[in-house]
Amino acid sequence: MKTVGLLGGMSWESTGLYYRLINEGVRDRLGGLHSARIILVSVNFREIEDLREAGDWPGVGRALAHAARKVEVAGADLLLVCTNTMHKVAPEIQKAVGIPLLHIADATAERILARGIRTVGLLGTNFTMEEDFYRGRLIDKYGLTVLVPPKPDRDLVHRVIYEELCLGEVRDASRDAYLRIIEDLRDAGAEGVIEGCTEIVMLVRQAHTEIPLFDTTAIHAEAAVAWMLEEGPDAT
Ligand code: GLU
Repeated sequence: MKTVGLLGGMSWESTGLYYRLINEGVRDRLGGLHSARIILVSVNFREIEDLREAGDWPGVGRALAHAARKVEVAGADLLLVCTNTMHKVAPEIQKAVGIPLLHIADATAERILARGIRTVGLLGTNFTMEEDFYRGRLIDKYGLTVLVPPKPDRDLVHRVIYEELCLGEVRDASRDAYLRIIEDLRDAGAEGVIEGCTEIVMLVRQAHTEIPLFDTTAIHAEAAVAWMLEEGPDAT
C-alpha cells in the first residue's frame, strides 16, 4: 500500500471525513485490521482565510505549498488537498512537491462521465462555482455542461459553507434551501449535482434527493484508496 498525504484543516470538519473514508475504503478492500497509511498536515484555517479575505491568493499558495512540502518530507506518495476551493492554488502546490497531486475536480469529472452524465449542476463556494480553476476545468478538460445557481443562491450556498458547515453547524433551514436550489438545477436540465465543497455532504446526502449527487469528499477519498492500493509496489 502506498501512503496518502492529506493537506487538511480547511475545514477540519471535512478533513475528519477524509480520514474516516480513506480508512474505511482500505478496510473494505483488504479486510480485517487493515488501515490506511496516512500522513496528515492540518493547517490553521483562520490563518489561510485571513490571507484569502485580504485577496492574497499568492500568499495562500505559498502557505499551502509550504504545508504540502511537509507532507512530502514526511513520506507521502500522493497528495490530496482536502478542499475544492483551495485547488485554485493547485498549480503552485504541485510545483512545490515531487509527488502527484490528485486533483479533486478530475476525480469528480471522471465519476460523472462514467455515469453517462453530461450536464451537471455545481454547488460550492463562489470561487468554485464561478472560476476557471474548477468550473472551467470541468467544461474545458471534460466537456461537461456545468450549471450553477443564480447569484443570490450562489451567495446563500457560499455563506452556509463558511458560516455554518465549516463551524460544524448543520441546520434544517439550510438543508431545505440547498434542496430547493438542487431542484432548481434539475429543472434547468442538470442530470446530477456536484457537492463541490467538502462540507456539503454534512448537510445534504443522497437520501435527501433523487437526483444523483456527486459527493466530492467521498469521490476524492475513493480515488485515493484506489491509487494507494493499485499504484506500484508497497511502501516500506
Ligand atoms: N472545504 C470547502 C471546499 O471544499 C471550502 C473551504 C475552503 O477551502 O475555502 O471548497
